[in-house]
Amino acid sequence: MEKYALITGASRGIGRAIALHLAADGYNIIINFRSGAQAAGEVKSAVEATGRKAVLMPFDVCDAQAANDTISEWLANNKENPVEVLVNNAGIRLDSVMAMMDTESWHRVINTTMDGFFNVTQPVLKKMQRARYGRIINMASVSGLMGIAGQTNYSAAKAALIGATKALAKEVAPRGITVNAVAPGFIETDMTEGLNQEELSKTIPAGRFGTADEVANLVSFLASPGASYITGQAIAISGGLY
Ligand code: NAP
Repeated sequence: MEKYALITGASRGIGRAIALHLAADGYNIIINFRSGAQAAGEVKSAVEATGRKAVLMPFDVCDAQAANDTISEWLANNKENPVEVLVNNAGIRLDSVMAMMDTESWHRVINTTMDGFFNVTQPVLKKMQRARYGRIINMASVSGLMGIAGQTNYSAAKAALIGATKALAKEVAPRGITVNAVAPGFIETDMTEGLNQEELSKTIPAGRFGTADEVANLVSFLASPGASYITGQAIAISGGLY
């Protein structure tokens, strides 16, 4: 039996760091991404360099059919290899003040987070329930906890994800499955490129942006057997920003 962790949006940024941390923890890694095949290939090589296996699993998390078919097929062909950890990390931001926000930006941000959560979690969850063990970690944001001006779509998506995390945690706790949300503040990745880091850092008690590795450390702990009594929580990792 070989245990696997499935991470959505694992080709770059926080997802990439999580893939490498969970590989170091002894998991084989399923790397989901949407379009960045070359970057995903580099993550695969980096995981394999740690001695673990890595599988590329490209699909758009918003595409229910693609997500369900791809995951279900892999699970059917790997009956001996449980997916013990699922990290719903894929996300986008399309910021704009509400008065100027177009309908597409509203729907794309919410769908990527929420349809993505549903489409990917459902096929994996059924297997976890049968195995009576699992760790589900959803990548939210402090934006979903405190609200950030210019991000009504993103704040709404991440707040909804936290609600779903709490509800699902209650459903599956008797089956040995924990469900938690991680809520990063400003983290240095492609997503925050172009933001005025110097100015924004003045609003952060720690005085700086965080790193993807710092977020991955928290995910690594929540994914571990040692985190068995933590469920239904949204844990901020934001240098004190709230
Ligand atoms: P990033 O560097 O922009 O990377 C995003 C990742 O998500 C990429 O691997 C991308 O794949 C994938 N992705 C996007 N849409 C997808 C879709 N529809 N289907 C499958 N994969 C998709 O972002 P990041 O900063 O690492 O953020 C990761 C997560 O943390 C997101 O949920 C984000 O909202 C959250 N977060 C980030 C910050 C921050 O400051 N960076 C703060 C709070 C929360 P492709 O390259 O193939 O498109």
